[in-house]
Amino acid sequence: MAHGWGYAANNGPDKWADNFPIANGPRQSPIDIVPGEASFDGGLKALKIKYDPSTCLEILNNGHSFQVTFVDDSDSSTLTDGPISGVYRLKQFHFHWGASDDRGSEHTVAGTKYPAELHLVHWNTKYASFGEAASQPDGLAVVGVFLKAGADNAALQKVLDAFNVIRNKGKQSSFANFDPATLLPGCLDYWTYDGSLTTPPLLESVTWIVCKEPISVSSAQMAKFRSLLFSAEGEAECCMVDNYRPPQPLKGRPVRASFK
Ligand SMILES: [Zn+2]
Repeated sequence: MAHGWGYAANNGPDKWADNFPIANGPRQSPIDIVPGEASFDGGLKALKIKYDPSTCLEILNNGHSFQVTFVDDSDSSTLTDGPISGVYRLKQFHFHWGASDDRGSEHTVAGTKYPAELHLVHWNTKYASFGEAASQPDGLAVVGVFLKAGADNAALQKVLDAFNVIRNKGKQSSFANFDPATLLPGCLDYWTYDGSLTTPPLLESVTWIVCKEPISVSSAQMAKFRSLLFSAEGEAECCMVDNYRPPQPLKGRPVRASFK
């Protein structure tokens, strides 16, 4: 991986273990969620999400995906309850998607792949910073939301409209006053399990919270995702597609459901 990790044949998920041996660790993500094998846990609380649109800061093409980042120096935008204890602050959200609608999500449900998956990344405020939390077993909580082909999604459109200025790797732009709660499905029933970051360094620090209900995305909106580039300005253009890691072995981990 002379030129760093990515999603191509020569630097993609099958090669990540060369530089990041934790890729073969005991709690890697994503996984295939088999609903019939997830156990209902009546002790799981409802997710409590409090997002302040004024903490929204910028949108960035990092060469692997694009992300929207948030100011995280106070408890203005937080995730509490659900399967976690304590207060987790929103750091950023990003997506993974496919070159066509038959793939793109990282988690799958009984083998079913969705065209895209949203990840809202939060860090545990018992640690001093995101960077410190990212290597702790209870450091991060990521809410995953599937995108299903269907109707145009108005909330998502606000994000996609910012794409023209972040087409290339390394580009960023201010992105103010966006409420990420508008991207969540109406029902917050979820599956949860202990896992990892799905990109290098693949740290095993994530409590995964995957929503059962998908949100919608239109074919025109998926085309907009696929118009982004992995490449920097001046490099050969390389479309940002198929930026997902496939499901990893469960290795005996329990998957719990908040719903029957
Ligand atoms: Zn992700």
